[in-house]
Amino acid sequence: LLAGRTLAVAFMGEKVQRRIIAIGSGKGGVGKSTVTANLAVALRRVGVKVGVIDADIYGPSQPILLKSEDRKPEAEGETLQPVIGVADIPMLSMGHLVAKGRALAWRGPMAGRALAQLFEANWGDAELLLVDLPPGTGDVQITMLQKFKPDGAVIVSTPQDLALADAARAGSLFDQAEVPILGLVENMAGYVCPHCGEASDPFGSGGVERAAGRLDLPFLGRIPLSHAVRESSDDGAPVAMGDSPEGSAFRAIAAEIAE
Ligand code: ADP
Repeated sequence: LLAGRTLAVAFMGEKVQRRIIAIGSGKGGVGKSTVTANLAVALRRVGVKVGVIDADIYGPSQPILLKSEDRKPEAEGETLQPVIGVADIPMLSMGHLVAKGRALAWRGPMAGRALAQLFEANWGDAELLLVDLPPGTGDVQITMLQKFKPDGAVIVSTPQDLALADAARAGSLFDQAEVPILGLVENMAGYVCPHCGEASDPFGSGGVERAAGRLDLPFLGRIPLSHAVRESSDDGAPVAMGDSPEGSAFRAIAAEIAE
């Protein structure tokens, strides 16, 4: 899946092939950041040297998800040094650079400059950067996709129609920027009641897989709606670090991407 343009960068005299994969969604709240953090951990577990750029500059959540909230990136001249999050993942987020809880009210050009700092940081020997995009299809996304063109994109959606329509719009954003879509991930698919064990589908089921079929895109897998996913996210210990069914689901998707 990762075939395509790669960026050769020099690291300690050696050439490193570095790829960029953007994780996008049509709208917020579908679990794009959660999926990004878990895929990073899962890829790391199979030995991929992965870094994370939290480009969701208006609502950065990677510092919590990957447990690096209290770290501040150092700078060497103009170049930022990524901080190290959980599972030794190098990462940078606007959340590391602005005071906690302060909202950013930036216009496009300022946001663009801030993003450039994250992309142009010293990523060392990282061979894959996962980029947690802001939700939707606004100016920031378009500029970013043009300026720091990813090698591929993954789209996260919940199973219901409304979210799917937005996901399709996000897909057309990547198409316009000529970024190949690696596939769709269905999140919050199915819920198993912790009390009675009954399985139900609050947001419907299989919608993303059907949409992938219609759009002729690969379907990468589904992640259930689960307490474990949410709680582990809040604790900064993504569920993909463990071997629960949810963790395995993330790892299966990571394996597809790494192939
Ligand atoms: P987005 O990046 O799309 O805005 P987030 O990753 O921030 O979405 O997720 C929104 C909320 O939903 C968070 O509280 C997160 O913990 C929760 N969440 C995401 N995926 C799941 C899931 N599969 N099961 C339970 N909660 C989830």
